[in-house]
Amino acid sequence: MIKEKINELLTQLPTQVRLIAVSKTKPVAAILEAYEAGQRDFGENKVQELVEKQAQLPKDIRWHLIGHLQTNKVKYAASFVHLIHAVDSLKLLQEIDKQAKKNKRMQKVLLQFYIAQEETKFGLELNEAKTLLDSSEYQALQNIEICGVMGMASFTEDEAQVRKEFGELHAIFNELKASYFTEQASFIEISMGMSGDYQLAIEAGSTMIRVGSSIFGGR
Ligand SMILES: *Cc1c(COP(=O)(O)O)cnc(C)c1O
Repeated sequence: MIKEKINELLTQLPTQVRLIAVSKTKPVAAILEAYEAGQRDFGENKVQELVEKQAQLPKDIRWHLIGHLQTNKVKYAASFVHLIHAVDSLKLLQEIDKQAKKNKRMQKVLLQFYIAQEETKFGLELNEAKTLLDSSEYQALQNIEICGVMGMASFTEDEAQVRKEFGELHAIFNELKASYFTEQASFIEISMGMSGDYQLAIEAGSTMIRVGSSIFGGR
C-alpha cells in the first residue's frame, strides 16, 4: 500500500519537485516500506522522534525537520539532519550555526513564512526576514546555508485562497533571491504543499512537497 502510494505520487511529480514523505507518528516499519520503494527523503516534526527513528534506519535517508524547532532541541539533531524547514528567528539560526560548527557541518535551512489566514505563532513576515538578513549577527554566521523558503497555506476548501497564499510565498522567494541571494546558487527551494494541497503548490512553483497522510494513512 505505502509502496503504491509513493509510486503514484512520484509519477505525478515534475522532475524539479522533491517528495518529502512525512512519517511523523508512523512506525519504523512503515518508513522502511517507503524506503524499499526508493524513497529517501523523510520529514519529522519532533526532534525526539526524529532522533529515535534515525538511529534505527538506513543511514542514506535524508531527514527533514519540518516542525517548529525549540532552540534547546537543536543539539540532538545537529549531527545528521539534512534540512531544517521551519526557521523563523535569528536566535534559532544562531543556535543552529553553533551546533553545526560543533559538528563541523554546514547546516542547510529554510526560512518559514507566515502566509495563512489562521492565527499561528510561527513564521516570519517579509519585513522581519529582511531585518534578520540585514543584521550583522546573521552575517557573522558561518555554518548555516539558507536554501529557500517554507510555508503552510490555510486549511480551507477555498482553492483560490490557497493558490493566493502559495503565490505569496513564491513572490517572497523571488524577492529574497533578488535582494540577498543572487550570488548563492543553492538558494532554490520553495517547500510548500501537503496531502490536501500539493497539486496547487506544484502549480505555484513548489520544489518540495511534504506529504504524510496520503502516503501513510491518517494519524
Ligand atoms: C504533518 C505535516 C505535513 C504533512 O501533512 P499531511 O496533511 O499529512 O500530508 C506537512 N508539513 C508539516 C509542517 C507538517 O507538520
